[in-house]
Amino acid sequence: MDWNQQRLADAFGARAVWIWGAMIVGQGVCRALQRAGLSVAGFIDSSPAMQGQTALGYPVCAPEPVLEQAQAGNAFIVIGSGHHDQAIEAHCREQGLIAEHDYLSSRWLNDIDPSIDVSGLCNLHCISCPQGNLSDRPPTGFMALDTYNAILNKLLAELPFLGSIQLYAWGEPLLNRQLPAMIAATREAQVLSAISTNLKAARDLEAVVAARPDWIKVSASGYGESYSIGHTGGNWEQFLVNLRQLAQLREQYHPDLQIVLNYHLYRHSLGASYRAMQALCDELRLIFRPNMAYLYSLDNVLDYVEGRPLSPEAQRTLELMLLDIDSGLERARQRRHLPCPEERCLPINWDGRVRFCGVYFKPFIADDFLATPLSDILARRQGSAFCERCMSHGLHHYTAVYLEERILDDGL
Ligand code: SF4
Ligand code: SF4
Repeated sequence: MDWNQQRLADAFGARAVWIWGAMIVGQGVCRALQRAGLSVAGFIDSSPAMQGQTALGYPVCAPEPVLEQAQAGNAFIVIGSGHHDQAIEAHCREQGLIAEHDYLSSRWLNDIDPSIDVSGLCNLHCISCPQGNLSDRPPTGFMALDTYNAILNKLLAELPFLGSIQLYAWGEPLLNRQLPAMIAATREAQVLSAISTNLKAARDLEAVVAARPDWIKVSASGYGESYSIGHTGGNWEQFLVNLRQLAQLREQYHPDLQIVLNYHLYRHSLGASYRAMQALCDELRLIFRPNMAYLYSLDNVLDYVEGRPLSPEAQRTLELMLLDIDSGLERARQRRHLPCPEERCLPINWDGRVRFCGVYFKPFIADDFLATPLSDILARRQGSAFCERCMSHGLHHYTAVYLEERILDDGL
């Protein structure tokens, strides 16, 4: 039986509801429960860095006391973690908690994470990204506010427990002048909003922050002179000015705004660059998140494994990557029997078309999201010949291999 508002209310009873996972997925779950009129006591997070903080105005606690409350029949746990949900579920079971009675996974409420690419255009041409390394790109443009609102309403109707929307995929959202109104509409609908920006254009930054998005991710791949090697076409001085302005606008308009700095690790962005960026994040109170850089999109990677030539930009990316592509692909191949984590993605393009999934740039699966039931779109993808081809190489785990890879501190 599917979960609905009544079934959740019955399951929770008079118990305090805690969400395990205080980051974007967990916060999205919080918004979905609030929308359904269900109250939340707070968040649990295993990360000591999160404990004692607040998220969406609720306290973030360590798991142990809440687990004890749940064992005593006084708390219900909703797991809202993107990467660790299965490990958390296993932990709940080990503690004697019963699925659906004492805890549930937010995947059972909603297993789709939509992204809406409000801008098909980017003002950089990073060599690791299809905007910089593919020549035959689809047409670009901006989504209109009316279209965005119609898509938001359709998503809410088709996904009653929709938690969050990413207002970006392969473009620079700050280029769309209607972004502040789109963020405001998302907030009004009680859905969590996240944007990702290269901060090259700060023209509307104040209006964007004042519209109160929940998360802003900023990407960088070096410090000082090394910045523009990966962020091709970028200007370090301008980036720094805009990053400082963003931190200042947060204090002025929206202190709860979470700002993440996604730092792409290449051969040229380690050592002094890495440490300088980490110190800057500490100074500006940004969440510093270093991740291995990798060749993207998977259109390129599929070409590589199937022996087709790559563009010079894609070749250059291969030279700069820390984990070489053959090793990365070998690790991904070892996981090819595992389910595809990308099936959660629903990437809606600026023109209303739907991309095949979140990691491919060129193939589309639906011409018009608004005119196509979501169930039809998902059915087209499930078990498709294209998915089979992708999985035969293990490519559905390619990004996870790089995102999970960590480098030792002394390697920096
Ligand atoms: S990685 Fe981001 S900033 Fe760079 S070209 Fe792609 S979309 Fe633009
Ligand atoms: S199997 Fe490949 S093509 Fe299919 S959804 Fe997963 S990543 Fe995308």
